[in-house]
Order: sequence, then structure tokens, then C-alpha cells
Amino acid sequence: MFGKKLTLPEARALMVKNQLEGRYINDPRILEAMREIPRHLFVEEKFWDSAYDDGPLPIGHRQTISQPYIVAFMTQALQLPPNNQATVLEIGTGSGYQAAILSQVAARVYSIERIEALAKKAQQVLQDLEIDNVEIMVGDGGYGWPEHGPYDGIIVTAAAPEIPAPLTTQLKDGASLVAPIGPKRRQELFRLQRQGHTITSENLVPVAFVPLLGEHGWGE
Ligand code: SAH
Repeated sequence: MFGKKLTLPEARALMVKNQLEGRYINDPRILEAMREIPRHLFVEEKFWDSAYDDGPLPIGHRQTISQPYIVAFMTQALQLPPNNQATVLEIGTGSGYQAAILSQVAARVYSIERIEALAKKAQQVLQDLEIDNVEIMVGDGGYGWPEHGPYDGIIVTAAAPEIPAPLTTQLKDGASLVAPIGPKRRQELFRLQRQGHTITSENLVPVAFVPLLGEHGWGE
């Protein structure tokens, strides 16, 4: 506005207050993670001034880092157990920011990214931040990562026409999967919950994500 420009930590604190607390993000663990993790390090330096603004930003390769509110909202929507012992699967590592937030509220995070350059960069940023409970794999996330499952939560951060079938089989009983589902430009965020052999689904909020490509997405 006017006067002194905010420092990055000041901008981050304001982001939490205005964009998250002001919009019903109320899990203290998630608010703390969003206060701690420096989002600016997940984008190029030329975007640092907008790193705590209320929107997505480009991360190269025609991909984006999601709006901070959406990252917090999706994390909260997973309803992970309160003990921080959860094992979580993410599809679409991108910048690694969502994985970094998850790393603060889960015991282990597995994340799959199809673009090797993005996966490498994300890995480097996480390593620089001394986050050591995230494992990244390059591949088609539509198949999930059965070796480490079943998971306490699965989060898909790219939009598919429908829920990739292999993912629901990798959910623990009672666990949730959160994913943007719908046409290419505009989707609904769904939460699926597995209870025994039954899957229930809820429609949470309208969103706009980049497409999930590959076998269980929009193809290559
Ligand atoms: N969660 C990211 C943002 C995701 S952008 C963050 O915090 O920055 C969506 C990402 O999904 C892109 O990087 C894109 O390359 C990736 N993606 C698209 N289809 C995929 C697939 N089938 N498997 C794995 N990653 C995929």
C-alpha cells in the first residue's frame, strides 16, 4: 500500500492472517506449517514480491504453484489423524511446496511428478530446507505408488476427468482422497472417503488446476 515495503516473513505472516485464518483454515498445525515454510523459495526470485499474494504463480514447464489458500484448504480437507503419524501420497509435486506443507503434518510424504526437471528442483529446495521426510518419484502418478501404501491421505494437485481408479485402492480404511475433478478449465474439488468396500464422495469447492496427464488423466 504505502510506507515501508514488507519483508518476506512479514508478508508470510499477513498471508496466514488474511488469506487463511480469515477464511476458516483453523487447524493449528496447518497454520503453523504455512507460517514456517518459505513459499518464496519454491518460485523464481523474480516472483518473490508476489510469493505471499493470494494466487497461483508460474513454476515453468507451463505448470503452477497453487494459491496458498488452496494448499491449506486441501491439506485440511485430508482430515489427517492429529498425531502427525500419517503417510500421505501426493500426485503432482510441481514446486514441492504442497509436499513441504504436508511434511509438517505427516510422518512421511510420497510425491509423484511426471516432469523430471520439476521433480529435481523440488527435491533440491526441500533438501535446502532440511526437510527429510518427503520422497519424490518421477512417473505417472495416476497409478499411485502402491509400494508405500495404503495411505492415510491422498492428494491430487492436477485435474483429472475422473478419479484415477488405482488411487482409491491405495487408501486406508477411513482415509480420504482429495482431488480436482472435471473439465480442463474448471473443476470441483472432491473428497472421497473409503469405509470398507464403500466409497463416499463430497463436492467441496470450485477450483481451476492444470491437467493431470497420462493414462488416468487427459492422456499425453
Ligand atoms: N502441488 C504442486 C502444484 C502442482 S501443479 C505445488 O505445490 O507446487 C501440477 C503438477 O502435476 C505439475 O507439475 C504437472 O507436471 C504434474 N502432473 C501432471 N500430470 C501428472 C501425472 N500423471 N503424474 C504426475 N504428475 C503429473
